[in-house]
Amino acid sequence: MKSKIILTTLLSVSLMACAQETPKVKHKKKSVSSTSDKVRFANAEDPICHMKTEADMKDTAVYKNKTYGFCSTYCKDEFKKHPEKYVQK
Ligand SMILES: [Zn+2]
Repeated sequence: MKSKIILTTLLSVSLMACAQETPKVKHKKKSVSSTSDKVRFANAEDPICHMKTEADMKDTAVYKNKTYGFCSTYCKDEFKKHPEKYVQK
């Protein structure tokens, strides 16, 4: 009978220790640093083929300190041939 008491005591002690060892869930603040330098394009769409450039950009060209996006190198080359034709203002 005495041994059962000891066993129960040991069991409860081990359980207590187990409970104390349970790792606490730390609520770490995520440092969201979204400082990704996304290039702002002067054009919302490809001036050559009028495709939306922001979604699918393949090539870019700089004209008068402005970056223009194009869907392909072909469109960029076309733009570079006559940029004034495609750039308004
Ligand atoms: Zn294009």
